[in-house]
Parts: sequence; C-alpha cells; structure tokens
Amino acid sequence: DGGKRPDYLAGLNPEQTEAVETLEGPVLVLAGAGTGKTRVLTTRIAHILNTGRAFPSQILAVTFTNKAAREMKERIALLVGGAVEGMPWLGTFHSIGVKLLRRHAELVGLSSDFTILDTDDVVRLIKQLIQAEGLDDKRWPAKQFAGMIDTWKNKGLGPADIPEGDARAFANGRGRDLYFAYQARLSTLNACDFGDLLMHPIAIFRKNPDLLREYHGRFRYILVDEYQDTNTAQYMWLRLLAQRNKGEPQNVCCVGDDDQSIYGWRGAEVDNILRFEKDFPGAKVIKLERNYRSTEHILGAAAHLIAHNEGRLGKTLFTDRADPDDVKVQVHASWDSEEEARAIGEEIEQLQRSKHLLNDMAILVRASFQMREFEDRFVTLGLNYRVIGGPRFYERLEIRDAMAYFRLVAQPADDLAFERIINTPKRGLGDTTVRALHDYARARDIPMLAAAADIIETDELKPKARKALFDVIQSFRRWQELLENTPHTELAEQILEESGYTDMWKNDKSAEAPGRLENLKELIRSMESFESMRGFLEHVSLVMDAETNENLDAVSIMTLHSAKGLEFDTVFLPGWEEGLFPHQRSLDESGRAGLEEERRLAYVGITRAKRRCHIWFVSNRRIHGLWQSTLPSRFLDELPETHVEVAEMEQSYGGYGRGGYGQSRFDKAEPFANSYSTPGWKRAQANRTDATRENWGTRSGHAVERIGYGESGPKGRTIDGE
Ligand code: ATP
Ligand code: MG
Repeated sequence: DGGKRPDYLAGLNPEQTEAVETLEGPVLVLAGAGTGKTRVLTTRIAHILNTGRAFPSQILAVTFTNKAAREMKERIALLVGGAVEGMPWLGTFHSIGVKLLRRHAELVGLSSDFTILDTDDVVRLIKQLIQAEGLDDKRWPAKQFAGMIDTWKNKGLGPADIPEGDARAFANGRGRDLYFAYQARLSTLNACDFGDLLMHPIAIFRKNPDLLREYHGRFRYILVDEYQDTNTAQYMWLRLLAQRNKGEPQNVCCVGDDDQSIYGWRGAEVDNILRFEKDFPGAKVIKLERNYRSTEHILGAAAHLIAHNEGRLGKTLFTDRADPDDVKVQVHASWDSEEEARAIGEEIEQLQRSKHLLNDMAILVRASFQMREFEDRFVTLGLNYRVIGGPRFYERLEIRDAMAYFRLVAQPADDLAFERIINTPKRGLGDTTVRALHDYARARDIPMLAAAADIIETDELKPKARKALFDVIQSFRRWQELLENTPHTELAEQILEESGYTDMWKNDKSAEAPGRLENLKELIRSMESFESMRGFLEHVSLVMDAETNENLDAVSIMTLHSAKGLEFDTVFLPGWEEGLFPHQRSLDESGRAGLEEERRLAYVGITRAKRRCHIWFVSNRRIHGLWQSTLPSRFLDELPETHVEVAEMEQSYGGYGRGGYGQSRFDKAEPFANSYSTPGWKRAQANRTDATRENWGTRSGHAVERIGYGESGPKGRTIDGE
C-alpha cells in the first residue's frame, strides 16, 4: 500500500497482520480463545473499507449473535471513523437470511411481509396437522416432529430430500408427508420458520443462477466469525455465495476454534473447519497462538481441561500476561443453590466495594433455570443485573399474547396469532366458534381474520358470538388503519387497552398479575428503540438478546452458550455438578461426544474471564421441587492444581459436616471444615490446595443418580403459563 501504516494495524502481531492483509483468496484463521480472531475480522473490514477495495454494501459479515453484530458495527465505526453507514450486510446467518428473503420472497411463493414463526407457533401448527391427519398426537408428539424438521433443515434437507429411514421414523412412515404438509401450510399462512430463513435463500439461489451471479458481484468480501458452529445449511449457503468463476479469487475469511464448538446439538458441524481447505482451494490457514485476554492461571486451567478431549485439532496457546498478583482460578463449594447465589452476591459486592464495575462481571450458567436464584438474590440485594441471550422475557405468557395482537394488526394473515388471542380476554368466542372459523377459512383458503369478517355476514354463528366477533373485527380494522400513521408505541398501548387485555390482568387476583402488568409496560418501553411496529416484530422473532439498558452498570447473567465470543474481568461459573455440568442429557443422548461438547462448553466458560474466574459447586440442588444431593463435576478434577485453588468454604457447607462425595478430591468435608475459622461472613483466606492434594485425581467412575433437569441452552426453558 505504500504510505503510512494506518493506526488500526499498529497493535497487531505478525500473524494477525497477515490475516488482516491477505485480502485476496480464501483465509481460515484457526485459533484458540482470546487470540484476537474477532478483532482480526473487525480490523479486516476496516482495512477493506479504508483501502477503498469495496463499498460497505459489498461486504458480507456473519456473526453468531445479533449482539455481536451490533458490537462489530460499533467497533468498525470507531476504526474507520463512522463510515459504516450503509453497511447493511452484517448480522447472523438468520438475520441476513431474513433480509434476502424479504427481497425475493415471491421466488419461493411468499410475499415480502411473511411472518416468522417461533418454536411455539411451529409446535402448535404441527399439532394441528397431526390431528388433521387423524393421528394420535400423544403417541406422535408435535414437539418431537418440530425437532425433526429443525434437524433436517439444519442439514439443508427439504421434504423431498430426507432419507428413507428418517422419513419412516415418525408416524409409521408418514413423516415425509407431514413435512410436505407443514411446508404447504406455512406457504398458505405466508409464514416461515427459522430453518426456512436459510433453506429458502438456498433454494432461491439454486433456482435462479442469474440472481446468484448478481450477489456474487455484490459481495466482494465475505467474513464469518465463530465458524466452528456453522451447520450444514449455513455452510451450503456460504458456499453458494462464495462461488466464483475460475481465476477469480474467493475472498472468504472464516475464523473459528474447534475447541469452542458448542452447538453440535443444534446441528453445527465442526467438520466444516476441516473441509475448508478442500472446498476453498488455495486457502491460507493462519494460526494465532498468543492470547491477549486472560491471565496465565485462567489460560492454564482452560488448556489443561480441554486437553482431556480426544477429538480436537490441538493447538498452542500462550500469554504474556503473567503478573505475580494474578489470582488462581478459585473453586468454591456451597450447601445449596440458594447459598451459592448468596455467596456469589457477596463476592460481587466485595468487588464492587473495591471499585470494580458490575459491567465487568458475568455469571454463566449451564441451564437457564439456574438464573432465577441469582435474579431473586440480586433483587434482594439491590444489585443491578441483566439477563442476556435468552428470549425469556419475550417468552412470557403475557408478552406472547400482546405480541399476537401486534402481529395480527401488522400481518392480518397470521392465523396463529388470531387463534391465540381471539378469546383472550374471554369474549364468549370459545372452541366451537374457533372451529367454525377454522373450517370456513380452510374451505376458502383465506386467513381466519378475513373469514371472521365474512362469517358475521352469514347466520352461521349464534347472535352472541356474532356480536362479539363483530366488535373484535371492528377493533382490528381501526388498529390497522392507525398502523401507518400513529407512533407504534402509542398504538401498542391503545391495542392492549381497547382489547381489554390490560384489564384482564388488572382484574386478575393471582399473585403473578402485577408482575405481568409490569412486563407489559416493559414491552411497550422496549418498543421505543424501534422505528416501526414491523421492525419491532421482526426483532422479536429473531431475538437472541434480551433488551437491556446498555448504560446501566449491571452484572450479566447468561447461559454458557450465549457467552461465546464475550469477555469479562470476572466470571462466575456456578453449578459444576455431575448431571448439571456435564449435563446428564448430553451424556445420555450423545455419550462420549456429548461429554466432549460439555467440556468445550466448560472451556468456553473459563476463557471468558480476563482476570478472575470463580467456579462453584453445591452439594444439594432442588430440581422440580425435590432436593437431590449432587456430586462435584468431573471437570473440577480435570483442572490443574498449579492454576487452581480451592477457596475458603462457606460456613454452612462445613457446618453441616457432610461427607459422601464419592472419590473426588473435592469429596471430603474435612479440609473444608477447618477452613472457616471466622464465622459470619468474614471468611478465612486459607488456601486449601495442600490439604486436599492427596485426593487429586483419584476419582473413579461417575455413578450418578439420574436427575431430570429441564431444558438448557440458549433457547431457555419451557414457556411459562402454557
Ligand atoms: P474468542 O475465541 O473467545 O471469540 P477471539 O479470538 O475472537 O476470542 P478477541 O475477542 O478478538 O479474541 O480478542 C480477545 C481480546 O484480546 C480482546 O479484548 C481484544 O481486543 C484483545 N486483543 C486481540 N488482539 C490484540 C492485540 N494485537 N493487541 C492487544 N490486544 C489484543
Ligand atoms: Mg471471537
């Protein structure tokens, strides 16, 4: 380039520089946590823009979460001085998929205002189909079939492509027919599910080579973060967009870490990393080995743990950040999860007193049910916290009801929304009316709201139902007219008032009602940052990140899955117990592979920490209202003693004098018992490593009671109230 080297390149190490400056041809950056992969991607975009190689709109950059996309936009704006206006192609595979699909919806038989269904909608719809087929939906649960469809779509398989065996696996061989029927139904509803956001663009590109060529011309540079977690459909999508004529360079840059592949359960294929060199000939593979994030202790602990995995490419990691003041990774024990939350709360307050920001702290849980305990505790303490990464808020019953109203106003063909709210609040429009409407709509192939408008002109319904329906339709007509010109937050409030929905909760005497009303208020507040109702609806259907007030100093609470790519000064990792972490379901369903994925998750957790990492386990946990005694996670035994210390134990832990931990180095209450010499939350600072040394690594076997934990992972638990 000649001239002076731009500032943004100055701090990079030689390998990072190479990854940023190799702009022509395929590049794969394969490197461990905290080595600057994301930083390389961001800098690369800045470099492309700064050297005038492409306009912002000619760059396609894929991140794993919407939050990461926002952060990347901000970082690039800083690097190139605000010139990222008009960089529309930066987001998750799904959000980019939506954008493509809105443009070309008609090519797959949708119109551009299609609805995106969430899991709950999908299950409801499938249930209808199963019943319509005359099948027993208890024997053939809709939820199971929804999972199968999702798996097929992650593999890029449409109804015509699914393997014989798979098709037979459901409803005595009717799986394929049901899948066809499901797609047809989506089409009628002008709707698609999450998988379609990838499948439809793939179909569009395959069937329309000219259009694909246009996009080849447009996307001169393609970049993908967290490449280890792409699934087959995403990979197909990527390859289609990256195709070039012979002789033209494929400017694709993917960065990833095989040790952080944690979405296998959702169809991610870590093999995509291994295929890269084969599928993108002439690829340059760059390794980064210097970690800029964590202390030597944190990195040492993580590296030692992950070395227990067999299926890995293996890599070196080192850090220059060795400071004699650095603390080791701390392992703590508590009696139960309530005490765990209390102890972590104490630790946080102590850090806060020594001027640490809450923003720099995170609690990373294995399963989202663990969050509630912390939320409760922090509310009591008055500690600010935010829950990140889960659709928890938007999954609440009242939020989903409210959203159904908004959806039906913006997307009148949304039958699922219609069915959800037509008799909520109760209007005397019960099952009989809904069934009549359903049949009427199906017979004429029109949406239910339209059917309702027709049917009140006939005498098909009883006068009372007819009157009630008439009122509802009038309301929706009015709201639809207001949609374009009334501020959407105002309209939203009006809808909830006029529909009687807010009153329904005001009149409800249950303990949850006040909370629900607060949530509805919060919902309206959360709409403020969007320009339109449609923009908001789209956001919610895609949402991976709960809305947070960015300005508030607050502790982050999230699942390990959604912590990927993030970093915090202090990280708390609670719940390291057998059955919870590693999660029993992973072990049951995927055996050794499942265990290795759990271990990668532990690796991701530890490597989020820059300076302090606290791991917790409890000896009793209440699951579904029943107390279970638990064993410390086998991962604790896999941490190296040089980098880890068993911290002072909670008073009540030793106080109960519990033994019975099996053969773990964490098994004896004895060393803990004499570690709390000062009662009452002035905790002793004893380092118990020596005392427990004889027990290191002596554990054998992990006979654990089967514990029925709920859902885990970023999708959170089941929807409340339903
Ligand atoms: P992960 O695998 O967890 O996603 P990563 O490889 O993407 O990690 P980054 O998040 O890009 O790593 O970088 C980790 C931290 O190190 C960040 O705070 C980043 O700013 C910093 N960093 C990266 N490269 C350098 C560098 N050359 N000089 C100083 N700091 C750096
Ligand atoms: Mg990263």
